[in-house]
Amino acid sequence: MFASRGGDGLLVFVGVVWFTLAPLVGAYIAKAKGRTEWEGALWGIFLGAVGWIIVGLLPEGSEGFPYNCPECDGGVTEHARRCRHCGFRFAPVRRHRGA
Ligand SMILES: [Zn+2]
Repeated sequence: MFASRGGDGLLVFVGVVWFTLAPLVGAYIAKAKGRTEWEGALWGIFLGAVGWIIVGLLPEGSEGFPYNCPECDGGVTEHARRCRHCGFRFAPVRRHRGA
């Protein structure tokens, strides 16, 4: 027979861990996807692992990517030569020689 004592304590522990871990993981995934962290945190809190999956399936955001692809308007990094979304090649930056 298992003692039922401590069951509530475990539940509280799981709850605390959940509300700490769920938004953190969600925020981490969202950040990796170039989306805002709070967005991932909300998904994580309300839907848990399902929310993480949803964040993972969301289209990549432009957070952290200061430039937009002229072809598909996706976010790209400053030094990108090729769009990571549609594969569009950017015109190479030519520098003028001499002064
Ligand atoms: Zn593109």
